Amino acid sequence: TDGLTQEQRALRDRARELAQEAAAQAAETDRSGQYPWLMVRKMAEAGFTGLTIPKEWGGPGGSVLDAALVVEEFSKACAVCGRIAVEANMGAVGAIMAYGTEAQKKLAAGLVLAGDKPAICITEPEAGSAATEMATTAERRGDRWIINGRKTWITGGGVSRLHLIFARVVEDGAFKGIGGFLVVRDEAGKPEGLIVSRRIPSLGLCGMPEAELEFSELEVADDMVLRAPGGWQRGFGRLIDAYNGQRVGAATVALGLAAGAYEHAVGRANARSQFGRPIAEFQGLGWMLADMSIEVEAARALVHRAARSAGPAGFPDRLAAAQAKVFASEMAIRVTNGALQVWGAAGYSKDNPMERYLRDARMFAIAGGTAQVLRTQVAEQILGRKLPQTRDGFLRIIAEEGA
Ligand code: FAD
Repeated sequence: TDGLTQEQRALRDRARELAQEAAAQAAETDRSGQYPWLMVRKMAEAGFTGLTIPKEWGGPGGSVLDAALVVEEFSKACAVCGRIAVEANMGAVGAIMAYGTEAQKKLAAGLVLAGDKPAICITEPEAGSAATEMATTAERRGDRWIINGRKTWITGGGVSRLHLIFARVVEDGAFKGIGGFLVVRDEAGKPEGLIVSRRIPSLGLCGMPEAELEFSELEVADDMVLRAPGGWQRGFGRLIDAYNGQRVGAATVALGLAAGAYEHAVGRANARSQFGRPIAEFQGLGWMLADMSIEVEAARALVHRAARSAGPAGFPDRLAAAQAKVFASEMAIRVTNGALQVWGAAGYSKDNPMERYLRDARMFAIAGGTAQVLRTQVAEQILGRKLPQTRDGFLRIIAEEGA
C-alpha cells in the first residue's frame, strides 16, 4: 500500500538500522554544536551520500524518492544527519549533475560520494526572499572570474567543501544576469578569498553550522562556471530548479522530525500512567495522537508525490515541491509541539529528545523559500498568472503585454 518497491523497502530498512546510531549521538551533536563527522563517514560508507549520483559517475543511480526514504529515516533520529543526507543527494549536486560539464560532474560526484555536504550560497544580508536582489558580483577578467560580496545563513559554512555560489555576472562592465560558480574549499581552508567570517548561533539543528561568508577577490576559473541552458538571462531560473529537489529534501526532514516525535509520543502515552491508568486512555490525548498520525501521513503522501515527479534531470515538479514543503514544514511545528505536550514536563527537559524535535522543526517554514513566499508560488501556478512582488511588477507586465 505504500507504493514502494521491495528494493526501496530494503533501502529504507538499511537506513533505519544505521539511523539508530544517529539517534544515539543526536543529543550530543545538539549539545556540542559539533558537526557529526563520525556519522557522516558511516553514512558515506553505507552509500547514503551520493545515492542519487548516476552509475556512470560512480554512484548507484538512485531516485529522488530513494533519497527521501533515507532522509526520513535519519531525520526521525537526528535531523542534522537528515539534512546532510539531503544536501549530499539533492540541491547543488542535482544542478551540477543536470547542467555541469563532464569535469564538474566528476568533481561533484567524487565529493558527495565521499560524504561532502555541498553548500548553496544565495542569501545575503539584504537579499533574503528577494534573492535576485543579491549584490555579490562575479566579474570577468580574461579566463577568470573575480567574486566579491557577502552571503549569510549558508548551511555547512566551514564544513562543506563544494560551494555553489550565486552572483551577479559582470562582463565588459555590463550586468548580464545571475550565474552559478563552483568553488571547492580544501581542508586547509583555501582558497583564501572564501572567508567563513562568522558562525550564526541558531535555535535548532545545532550540529549544522550556519555561517556568514565573505568573498574577497575570490578567483574562479572559467571552467568552474555552472552554465545552465538559456544563457545568463535565463540561467538563474534553470539553476534554481535544483531548489525543487532541495525543497522536497527539506520537506522530508520536516516529515521525519514529525514522524519521530509522533512515535515517541505514542510510546510515552502507552507507558505513562496518571489517575491509575495509562494516559493514552484519556480521549484528550488520543485525539491529539490521531490528528498527529493523520498529519504525518498526509505530509508523507505529498512528499512522495513530489519526489516521484522528478524527471530524468532529477528535478521534482515545482508546484508539487512547493505544496509538499509548505504543508510538511508547518505540520512539523504542530506535531513536534503536540508530541512534547504528550510528554508533559519530561518533554520540556533536555534529558529527553522532545524539546530538540521542536527546536529542530522550526526552521523549515523559513529556509529555502518561506511558507509565505512558497504559497505565492503555489498561487501563481494554480492561477496561471504571474504575481510579481515588487511595487512596479504589475506595471511592467502591463507594459509588456500592452493590456
Ligand atoms: P525575509 O525575506 O526578510 O522575510 C521576512 C518575512 O517576510 C518572512 O516571514 C517572509 O515570509 C515574509 N515575506 C518576505 N517577502 C514576502 C512576500 N513577497 N510575500 C509574503 N511574505 C513575504 N540561504 C542560502 O542561500 N543557503 C543556505 O544554505 C541557507 N540555509 C539556511 C538555513 C537556515 C537554518 C535558515 C534559517 C536560512 C537559510 N538560508 C539559506 C536563508 C533562507 O533561504 C532565507 O532565510 C529565506 O529565503 C528568507 O529570507 P529572510 O530570512 O531574509 O527573510
